[in-house]
Amino acid sequence: MNHKNIFTKIIEKKVPANIIYQDEKITAFTDISPKAPVHILVIPNLFIKNLNYINKKNLDILSHMMYVSIKIAKKNKINKSGYRIIINCNKHGGQEIQYLHIHILGGKKLRKI
Ligand code: AMP
Repeated sequence: MNHKNIFTKIIEKKVPANIIYQDEKITAFTDISPKAPVHILVIPNLFIKNLNYINKKNLDILSHMMYVSIKIAKKNKINKSGYRIIINCNKHGGQEIQYLHIHILGGKKLRKI
């Protein structure tokens, strides 16, 4: 199974995942290997490989992903203590899964980058 299929199958509910939010455009679920007490991934329902594949036509998806990520942070009560939003891109950026995703991390003091 390739990485596109793992996240695609999560959206289609063919692979088990703790889906915490889903609408017609995006899906959010908890990371299987959390790096912080709150670690949630937000992905577009339509496959985009990574940030390099954002263009004028699909650009709006990013603002929607960000907006929902902020709402998720508030719902998880990490907005006041603080949190981090990360999008890794390709090898040097540390992207392992080639399916565009936002990481929401919080619930503890994160190491400064
Ligand atoms: P990245 O390194 O930015 O590509 O992040 C990929 C993330 O996906 C990692 O934090 C993994 O722990 C997470 N991950 C991989 N497989 C699954 C899965 N089946 N369900 C939830 N999260 C996953």
